[in-house]
Parts: sequence; structure tokens; C-alpha cells
Amino acid sequence: MALRLIRGFWTISEDAALALAGLPPIDLEIKAPSLMRCGASRLEAHEWLLGEWQSRWQTSRWGRWTYQLIPEMAVWAEFQHKCVDYHLTQFLTDHSCSRAYLLKFRHVESAQCLFCVDGEEAAEHVLIQVHGGEGGAKDDVRYPVQP
Ligand SMILES: [Zn+2]
Repeated sequence: MALRLIRGFWTISEDAALALAGLPPIDLEIKAPSLMRCGASRLEAHEWLLGEWQSRWQTSRWGRWTYQLIPEMAVWAEFQHKCVDYHLTQFLTDHSCSRAYLLKFRHVESAQCLFCVDGEEAAEHVLIQVHGGEGGAKDDVRYPVQP
């Protein structure tokens, strides 16, 4: 369900998909109401759920790129105007058509960036480290040397 909401590839980790969709893990969704039956208020149960989810998100082995971009689950999950589509999901999960991702599936022979030849073409490289943002290398594009 989370993958459908974010329009993501099936290769996106469950942790990242749930995070982007703003859907807590199902076991936490089930346990939170039981806390209310034991005397916790709705707010306390909700805060418990967000705390447990945040703890899992921080220690997960998966979705680390997404975690760098969205470290605080409570802020993201409760942001009412988020709209994650196919292209934003690709960026937020680094499952884009970057050469680094395509290399994992052997669709290209090298992950070398075609624009600057200085690094591996992944979302972080293209959009943050080198080519993105003001003062980035986007205006100083170098082309690979042909053999
Ligand atoms: Zn580059």
C-alpha cells in the first residue's frame, strides 16, 4: 500500500516507503489502541507510536538516503500538505534513473557521472554535492574525455 501511495518501485525498502507515505508500521498501529485500553490517553498513545517509529527509523539499515532527507518522522508524518509523486519518490529514495542506480541492475557499465566525470552519478551527487544548488557546478559542466 505504501508503495502505491508514493508511486515507488518495488525495490524501495519497506522502511523508506512507510516513511514517505507517512504510514506507521502496522504493528505499531495495532499496539497504540491497546495502550489506550490500558489507561493511556489518545495523545499519549500517538506520541508513543511516533517515538517507536522514530526509533526504528533512526536505527534501520534501509532507506538511509531517505533518512538523511527526512530525519524527523513526526514532522514528516504530520505535515498535512506533503504530496509525493513518482519523480519526488525517485529523488527521495535514490531510485532514480541515475547511473549509480542503473549500474546495480547492470543497465549501464559505469556509474561515472556524465556531466563532471568526478564522481558517481547518484541523487546526492547530482542534486546536492555537485550539480545542485546555488554555486553548484551546474553552470560549469565538463564533459567526459573521449578515449
Ligand atoms: Zn557529476
